Amino acid sequence: MELGLESDKKVDICHLRPWSFSKVQKAKRCAYDFYWTYVEKQKPAERADFFVLGSGVHFILENAIETVFKRCRPLNYGLLSYFFEKFKEFEPDIPYEKVKPFFPNILNYVNSQIRKIDRIKFFHSEVDLCVDMDLQPVEFNAKTAFIRGKLDFIFAIEDTLYIVDHKTNRSREFTNRVKTQLRWYALLAGAKFPEFKKLVLEIHNVRYGTVQRFVFTERDIMNFQVKLLPVIEMTEGEFFGKTFSELIPSPSSSNCRWCDFRHICPTKKRRKG
Ligand code: SF4
Repeated sequence: MELGLESDKKVDICHLRPWSFSKVQKAKRCAYDFYWTYVEKQKPAERADFFVLGSGVHFILENAIETVFKRCRPLNYGLLSYFFEKFKEFEPDIPYEKVKPFFPNILNYVNSQIRKIDRIKFFHSEVDLCVDMDLQPVEFNAKTAFIRGKLDFIFAIEDTLYIVDHKTNRSREFTNRVKTQLRWYALLAGAKFPEFKKLVLEIHNVRYGTVQRFVFTERDIMNFQVKLLPVIEMTEGEFFGKTFSELIPSPSSSNCRWCDFRHICPTKKRRKG
């Protein structure tokens, strides 16, 4: 039997909520991919190399930030290698030569942050944020969780909250997708930290060692909220109560290229054959 094809499991609200940015993206991209991921909870057959590399770089960066901020001492290559070895304990196949080129940019970034330490009120790396339907902060796994996200790194200086997203991809473009992702983070951070009237979103591209900065006002976040809620409502309407056979997939070269379920997807198989 091909996976999901005879499944009569209906999409329930617990499969839909809470929404993350990537979950909405997946729902909009292809209904089959969404169903296998969030309803059937199938494991992908294999993970792309770039995903493992990205996870490794994020792991090293997060640990480097935490450590140097707590110690108030600059980062060095020895610590980076130590964090790489730690990551390798649960991802043994990650090649050192692929991660090593990121080290100089990680070092520069972290050491440039530590120079601001006297002005930084607080910082956190890997921050889980979640809001309910009224956009009020709730626990990450609360029953009422509606929208959530993980912020790579946040810190506050005076009246400004800085939200940093580390990226490892090759694209330098500031696409609509990236803009929407930043607004998503701003919405969550604004709900959790209402005392900061100014939110600055930074895209830190670890591959190129660049930082792009965008300022969000309360009005920007409000405008985003007004657009986001109908999008989620419509997406829930498209999925809620449906079985696999009632869903319509969206095969295309861009959707299928990186899909985790290419190996089981009958639509993809037909396209190949
Ligand atoms: S292979 Fe293509 S059609 Fe099939 S689930 Fe993935 S994105 Fe959808």
